[in-house]
Amino acid sequence: MKNNLRFDSNGKFKIVQFTDIHEGPSRDKSIELINKILDYENPNMVILSGDIIDGKCQTAEDVKKAINHIAEPMENRNVPWCIVFGNHDDEHNMMTKEEMMNLYMSFKHNLSQVGYKTFDRIGNYNLLVESSKDKTPKFNIYMIDSGKYAPAIIGGYDWIKLTQIWWYKRTAINLKKKYKRLIPALMFFHIPLKKFKKACKTGLVNGERLEDESCAKINLCLFNKIVKIGDVKGIFVGHDHFNNYCAALDGVRLGYAGYTGYGGYGDDKIPRGARVFLINEENPADFKTWTRREFDTELKK
Ligand SMILES: [Zn+2]
Repeated sequence: MKNNLRFDSNGKFKIVQFTDIHEGPSRDKSIELINKILDYENPNMVILSGDIIDGKCQTAEDVKKAINHIAEPMENRNVPWCIVFGNHDDEHNMMTKEEMMNLYMSFKHNLSQVGYKTFDRIGNYNLLVESSKDKTPKFNIYMIDSGKYAPAIIGGYDWIKLTQIWWYKRTAINLKKKYKRLIPALMFFHIPLKKFKKACKTGLVNGERLEDESCAKINLCLFNKIVKIGDVKGIFVGHDHFNNYCAALDGVRLGYAGYTGYGGYGDDKIPRGARVFLINEENPADFKTWTRREFDTELKK
């Protein structure tokens, strides 16, 4: 049995989200950046929101090497971590997403789950964070596989399926029944929702928008369901490497983590980095979030 997630003795829980690392079989600078950020932020948990590895892996051995590089910073520090897949993770065709998920789960501190499977989606699951005082869950984390590419006739990126939205609804309702209250949550996946565009125009909180949101053309209203249920207070993604903004719409924060990797598309003038979340046990719905990026003076030590 792996360790449970819990608020620390000060009632705080800090998450660092890395995204779009695009690691390959030869260990690149991204791992050093992850090490630096973890040393500075010292989080209780790490979330990887897709495009963790990509088609630079050309054999199953390459995939294993890349995933080993990825695991190293968290495993060395005994920090719990979990993943969802992006559109590039299995483009090597050397391992299925389920095989890769099992590989991730084989690491001592990895809390990912195969979870709910539907269509080509795997790794839809949730993780509860317990109170610092007892086993009561005070916070929840949803992880969703946002898929890859839409059928050619539609074009663009795939969308979160209706069955996944139902899975989310079922999970949220069951938690509410079991614990007799709403548990505030964050949700992570790879490809942004269309609502990000709207949120960014009306409710920018922090960070930058340096490229268009490349959302799916089809939108099955996950966001509306989330607003109706009311547990999810933030949705955070990767995918568009040059966006690291956090915006807000209908009481839900929508944001990006930017990009962490040197192996995907990038621009050395746009710093790589991570997004950090600080959740307070007393009022977990009102979490703090900021970016931590490679040229920040805090990291120059
Ligand atoms: Zn990417």
